[in-house]
Amino acid sequence: MVKKVAIIGAGPSGLLLAHYLLRRGDKYQIDIYERRSDPRIISFSKSRTYPISLNERGMSALRKIEGLEEAVKAISVSMRGTIFHQKNGKTRFTPRKKPLTTLDRTKLAIALLKLTENYDKSRLNIHFNCQCTSIDFAAKKLKLQLETQEDFTIDYDLLIGADGGRSVVREHFLATEDFECQQKYVPNDYKSIFLPRPDENSGIHLEKGKIHSWMLKDGTFVVLLHQRDETMGGVVLFLHNKNQIASFSTTEEVLQFFQKNFPEVAQLMPKEEAEAFLNRPVSRILTVRCSRYHQDASVLLIGDAAHAVSSSIGQGCNAALEDVVLLDNLLNEYSDDLAVALEQFTVRRKQDAHALVELGDNAFPSTTGLFIEFVLRESLANILHQIFPKHFPPSISELVFETTVPYSEILNSYKGWISKVKKSNEKLSANL
Ligand SMILES: Cc1cc2nc3c(=O)[nH]c(=O)nc-3n(C[C@H](O)[C@H](O)[C@H](O)COP(=O)(O)OP(=O)(O)OC[C@H]3O[C@@H](n4cnc5c(N)ncnc54)[C@H](O)[C@@H]3O)c2cc1C
Repeated sequence: MVKKVAIIGAGPSGLLLAHYLLRRGDKYQIDIYERRSDPRIISFSKSRTYPISLNERGMSALRKIEGLEEAVKAISVSMRGTIFHQKNGKTRFTPRKKPLTTLDRTKLAIALLKLTENYDKSRLNIHFNCQCTSIDFAAKKLKLQLETQEDFTIDYDLLIGADGGRSVVREHFLATEDFECQQKYVPNDYKSIFLPRPDENSGIHLEKGKIHSWMLKDGTFVVLLHQRDETMGGVVLFLHNKNQIASFSTTEEVLQFFQKNFPEVAQLMPKEEAEAFLNRPVSRILTVRCSRYHQDASVLLIGDAAHAVSSSIGQGCNAALEDVVLLDNLLNEYSDDLAVALEQFTVRRKQDAHALVELGDNAFPSTTGLFIEFVLRESLANILHQIFPKHFPPSISELVFETTVPYSEILNSYKGWISKVKKSNEKLSANL
């Protein structure tokens, strides 16, 4: 019998899962419910997007859907490493052996959406401006609300919570037995930043194909990436409690801040962007650890809803796409028996998902002091691994960004370093 699947959230994980389920013959009939508008027709709000980097973990998941990797590459920029800009104008380059594919999160969703247009409407329907408000797990029913505030109820055989870090589906798990969930804000908030194509006469030359970053002593961090159209996009990360960025009240304050702290960025920032930056909301990032991702044979959390992670590790989306591959493999292994496949999803994913959150919190230091030690350790790890590959693992960055080594193995290889960063981060939080 055809199973009725309701996916909450048309982000990267929900949309990719729809593609994967539709490849499985006519076993599944899918409805996706997304609270926002269709990004293919409504130009997206810049305050709600940012560039993301995909490595082999995410790209291998996209590759399995015909035409998707090509579609994503056509709107991406390949990055071969990161340039750290120092206050004195000097730079340090950390190369990547394997380039990262970088693109805007909303553009990734649009690419995934466009390919869904090939499917028959009887198998896939996407409902925008439609928010899931409540769920009855026992009755397998959920309530949705339209923009007009009108409510309606649907029933499902399988419900997928792909509704991001503040998941409503996960919230309903809290009322079930033996479910534990730890939610924590990371110390850094962020604001998106967008700069026009650099003016040739500005004297500022930010090399293409490389991620550009700047860091202040207090941990304020700017990351900028060239976009396909040669404009630049990125984020400014800053400590939640102790930063003036959240309290700017005029465009002049914004410009002065960048002139003083990030002069190269300031030179590329027109007044209009300073004003837009001022008005963009500050966003907070939540990390999530759950004791399980399934409820009976009928509900599953995937992506950020299951394991939201700090943006500093650039892995949330990669891991969200990996979830889809894992579920697909389990459906193959257990011949679409949902009871076993969903239970096994928890069994096989939990250790890596928890390790990912730990790595996101504590693999990369947020103070300049430990940052220098981090850079030295990375160089040493690269040398030692080259000479004695059997005895020394690759550097932590290489393992995270350039391999598909499970996150739990990476955590295990770098336990000592992670615990050192954790202590430093705890001290920093205590002093806030
Ligand atoms: C600043 C920043 C930088 C990042 N950089 C990277 C990076 O470089 N690499 C990387 O891999 N990851 C990165 N990430 C993480 C990445 O963006 C997320 O992990 C990824 O988007 C998760 O995909 P998702 O589909 O699970 O959830 P989301 O992308 O959050 O999508 C969830 C969707 O569900 C919808 N929704 C929510 N609630 C409801 C509801 N009640 N009803 C209906 N719809 C609902 C939302 O509108 C949204 O469209 C970054 C994150 C941030 C904040």
